[in-house]
Amino acid sequence: MNRTPVIVVHGGAWKIPEEEHGPHVEGCQRAAAAGWEVLRAGGSALDAVETAVRLLEDDPTFDAGRGSCLNAIGEVELDAIIMDGQTLRLGAVAAVRRIRNPVTLARLIMEKGPHNFLVDSGAEEFARQHGMGLIPSEELVVERERARWEAWRAGEGLYAAELFNSTGTVGAVALDREGHLAAATSTGGKPGKWPGRVGDSPLVGCGAYADDRSAAASATGDGEALMRILATGAVCARVGAGKSPQEAAEEVLALLAERTGGYGGLIVLDPRGRYGIAHTTPHMAWAVVTPDGTCRAGIRVR
Ligand code: ASP
Repeated sequence: MNRTPVIVVHGGAWKIPEEEHGPHVEGCQRAAAAGWEVLRAGGSALDAVETAVRLLEDDPTFDAGRGSCLNAIGEVELDAIIMDGQTLRLGAVAAVRRIRNPVTLARLIMEKGPHNFLVDSGAEEFARQHGMGLIPSEELVVERERARWEAWRAGEGLYAAELFNSTGTVGAVALDREGHLAAATSTGGKPGKWPGRVGDSPLVGCGAYADDRSAAASATGDGEALMRILATGAVCARVGAGKSPQEAAEEVLALLAERTGGYGGLIVLDPRGRYGIAHTTPHMAWAVVTPDGTCRAGIRVR
């Protein structure tokens, strides 16, 4: 099969403060362009989503990698997943604290096996034994998040309680020249979360899913709600059954609201290169590079 490549990325669906719109758009645009460059040069969808998500993890604007929100005890704990639509292989990590790029550790787990999903110190030990450097946890903490957390602790902020309170989970879906799909999602989770809390993001069929026979999808938003409806599995199944990616994304978010009262955002891409972007939050940061190489990015408003 010879497809023209497509990549779609997101930088979270929440109430993005006005002053953070610019950095969100630029970050998504940079990530999508880098992922597209991989595809253009003949690289795989897996390489493209990993490249895009690594850039978003390194960008302190987003709630993934460095710059992530802090949990209840003031620490960063990271979750991520990557999935290959050709083989249905996947790798996932949760609650890691000393990993700069959780998406790359997820890929390492996928490739080296024998397991799919490692958490906490076991995941970090796996990283270490496979030559991935561990970093001091504090290197992931940025001043903005420390200040938000301190205000919350002092009872001044709504860090944990406010609706749409996440700070920019990231994700990417891609279609390569061979016609293969891949998806990846990475997050610091919800601000003020309980230590050890794992959301939807690293769970297969919840935070991400990819199957060449249906679609690739990445989710963001209220993790406790998203995991209850297997959000990305549900959206891919709908595309497999004949819905367009946009229709399927809107339907699943409507189902999310109806069945759980939760909110979120989805990006979806099918093997024909058709994509959908939908959200039920005030904002969603996104970028897409279409087959002709045009990169578009923005903040969707609802
Ligand atoms: N879904 C993420 C979580 O619940 C947060 C987000 O996407 O904003 O951990």
